[in-house]
Amino acid sequence: MSQDFIIGIDLGGTNTKIGLLDNRLKIKDKIIFSTQKFRGKECLINALLFYIQNLLNKHKIRKEKVRGVGIGLPGPIDSQKGIVHYFPNIAGWKEVSLARIIRQKIHLPVLIDNDVNLITLAEFKLGAGKKSRNMVCLTLGTGVGGGIIVEGKLYRGSSLSAGEIGHIPVAADGPKCGCGAKGCLESYIGNSRILKKAKALFGAIKLEELTQKARHGNREARKLWQEVGSYLGLCLSGIVNFFNPDCIVIGGGVAGAGSILFDAVEKVVIGRAMAPAKNIVKIVRAKLGQDAGIIGAALLFIE
Ligand SMILES: [Zn+2]
Repeated sequence: MSQDFIIGIDLGGTNTKIGLLDNRLKIKDKIIFSTQKFRGKECLINALLFYIQNLLNKHKIRKEKVRGVGIGLPGPIDSQKGIVHYFPNIAGWKEVSLARIIRQKIHLPVLIDNDVNLITLAEFKLGAGKKSRNMVCLTLGTGVGGGIIVEGKLYRGSSLSAGEIGHIPVAADGPKCGCGAKGCLESYIGNSRILKKAKALFGAIKLEELTQKARHGNREARKLWQEVGSYLGLCLSGIVNFFNPDCIVIGGGVAGAGSILFDAVEKVVIGRAMAPAKNIVKIVRAKLGQDAGIIGAALLFIE
């Protein structure tokens, strides 16, 4: 019997998205619920099971028609053993055999991976990095995540935890980061840092409003975005020199600033990185938007 469907899940600290995809990765339907509404591990796992079943029932799909359930998760994951080591932003998870637990309850194959790895995979296969071979993908939000494609394959690293671009140091000292170190990229260009600086200038303001101000020529707003761009550009210059990627894909809420941010990044990379590496790298905006996570999760069942 042909297995025509895949369930792709993007579990985030704020929202969880569950997608029903066909085997060409078209999203047929999608459920979004607040992760924070379900406190505690069991409660959240039960919510996942409930909504998966809900989607299948709604479309009258029998389990034999489903290849499996792919799940992207916000923390370090042992993707081979299907274990969640912990979540930095969701309490109560430590060394949880999530893939096994879900599989035993729902009787479908289950694969899990880090969420940014799956977004990277999705952008590489179907999005902004389609023609790339060696790619880096960044997600700019509250946290700054990264994923790496080497010679057409996702690179996970020796302890399956590669890609923590947000925790590359860009200053010897500097603000303390959530990871415990000082001067990490994330503590300069993370959402909360940008908003804190913006608040000091303009009062409480949203990221989009800050971008609007900059686009309309407000000098303080432009300066703030250029500062974000120069820290990011500094870090990416190092990555270009070290890794020689052909493409750097940048997504997430902060990337919504668009050209005002990208121009600043490019200026620094062109100024600081070495030839010939800097001449071939393309720095582009992510294409798949909010759905990248569930598409990437479903991609675990395509190879
Ligand atoms: Zn850090």
